[in-house]
Amino acid sequence: MEQPKEKDVLLEVNHLSIKFHLKNGKEAKVVEDVNFTIHKGETVALVGESGSGKSITSLAIMRLLPIPPGEITSGSITLNGKNLLTYKNKEMSRIRGNEISMIFQEPMTSLDPVFTIGNQMIEGIRRHQKVSKKEAWNKALQLLKEVGIANAEKVIAEYPHQLSGGMRQRVMIAIAMSNNPQLLIADEPTTALDVTVQAQILKLMLKMKEEHRSAILFITHDMSVVAETADRVMVMYAGQIVEEAPVRELFLNPQHPYTTALLKTMPSLETDVKRLPSIPGTVPPAYALPDGCRFAPRCPHALAHCHQEQPAVHHIQEAHKVRCHLFTEKGELAHDRERSFAGN
Ligand code: SF4
Repeated sequence: MEQPKEKDVLLEVNHLSIKFHLKNGKEAKVVEDVNFTIHKGETVALVGESGSGKSITSLAIMRLLPIPPGEITSGSITLNGKNLLTYKNKEMSRIRGNEISMIFQEPMTSLDPVFTIGNQMIEGIRRHQKVSKKEAWNKALQLLKEVGIANAEKVIAEYPHQLSGGMRQRVMIAIAMSNNPQLLIADEPTTALDVTVQAQILKLMLKMKEEHRSAILFITHDMSVVAETADRVMVMYAGQIVEEAPVRELFLNPQHPYTTALLKTMPSLETDVKRLPSIPGTVPPAYALPDGCRFAPRCPHALAHCHQEQPAVHHIQEAHKVRCHLFTEKGELAHDRERSFAGN
């Protein structure tokens, strides 16, 4: 992909920190000092295990976080230069489903079981566009055809429970694209589907993105989805982005020990799927984060001060950043990984 220009910036997340106030009086720092940019037409993946804060980040962009118990403690989220966090609820509902759309893992959570697909689509279209019912119906039909539903005339009159999981996800994509969003957020959109349908849905999302000239933020734990879809990747761990790079660079030259471990969990043609390694240990709970690097308890390269001091973000190359003590401020390797592996 061509190097994006500053003027093409669509979404900018700056120093975003979010905490949750728990019932037992504790605080969970679920997102801390998250910074990233999405350019117009770009596909960016936010990847990490469950509990890493990636879905919370996407809900914050949509302004769908439950507040309280959630609280955005700092930062800004700007779309086309305007801070979404300053918008009133009414202004935000104009943006949701219009300038930004979201697709969730389980379409049944977003589809209303008591309305036909057609009625739900028409309502979404007419909420944001001044068109007659007839025009909205025709547009809905056209969109269902675009997402590869052959018998669209029949499906438009059906209820969500009458469709398969794959068909429901196609309908969700049609709904999400119905107002030509500038940004589509897809949170684990294919996780609940079988492998063949997964591949079809991913292909379809990229086709729709091209046709509607949207950008996509893919939220996923699956590195194979990242490899197939993204231009750029951000790896999130325990509420922080620990590495960011163009997709090819990240796969060929991963620098953060967590990214390296994640890539090892990815199946390849040579690996026996039944014997894929998993990363030992678990993501620390957001109410009991370690003092130093959050990956230190699981990191095979951890140095003594990794357990005491949080690492800063260093630029390895212009578009490649890493949050790790193994690197100097200039982005050079400060410690020999093999030596640090031995516990130095
Ligand atoms: Fe591992 Fe230390 Fe880097 Fe954290 S800062 S990832 S513990 S080497």
